[in-house]
Amino acid sequence: MVTSIKDNLERVREEIRAAAESCGRREEDVLLVAVTKTRSIEEIKEAASLGLTSVGENRVQELLEKRALWPEDDPLRWRLVGHLQRNKARKALSAAAAIDSVDSPRLASALSRIAEEEGKSVPVLIEVNTSGEASKHGVAPHEAEGFMEWVAENCPSLLPEGFMTIGPLGGDEKEVRKSFALLRSICEASRERTGLPLPELSMGMSGDFAWAIAEGSTMVRIGSSIFGPRG
Ligand SMILES: *Cc1c(COP(=O)(O)O)cnc(C)c1O
Repeated sequence: MVTSIKDNLERVREEIRAAAESCGRREEDVLLVAVTKTRSIEEIKEAASLGLTSVGENRVQELLEKRALWPEDDPLRWRLVGHLQRNKARKALSAAAAIDSVDSPRLASALSRIAEEEGKSVPVLIEVNTSGEASKHGVAPHEAEGFMEWVAENCPSLLPEGFMTIGPLGGDEKEVRKSFALLRSICEASRERTGLPLPELSMGMSGDFAWAIAEGSTMVRIGSSIFGPRG
């Protein structure tokens, strides 16, 4: 099947708009992050030329390779959405505009220390394993608020913006929405506890972003619906 990035992107944007409107939200309140793992620079360029502002990569090495081929002054924001090992924190910070997968105090400390050395502040999201699936990264839901508070108090060079989760794979609507609703309630409780605005909820992928938007997502991470199935 021939898929066109342009047609796919239009369809995804229309679906985001419809999902937002059907729950009284505005499409501008949901950022589309195109997940570009395994995609070529040519495919990413095409998507970027169609108005994408943010892309997500899930591996540090791939992120570095693509960033090296990308014009340095281009405003496209590259986010790291996949698991980050602490020993790759410095490399990740050299290429990512934001780290969406902070999942341990040791990683958060390392990122903050390196960012401080380099004189910058890094936007981060805390990843929560809302489905409890053993294969998933992220802190446990009951630890998430405490971890956010700890980051706010101990990581001066991180800018915590909210939370990220991956919904249960292949779950039905009820189960998937339960995960997303849990992330939203963690975020609301964390706002109260820390006094931080924590505006971002990164949740929703190709298969479940409409449900995520209904549950308050502000950032959907979409790969295959834009670029076609991964090989
Ligand atoms: C691959 C990936 C996505 C996008 O998945 P699709 O189903 O292709 O939309 C989103 N988030 C993360 C963390 C990913 O690794």
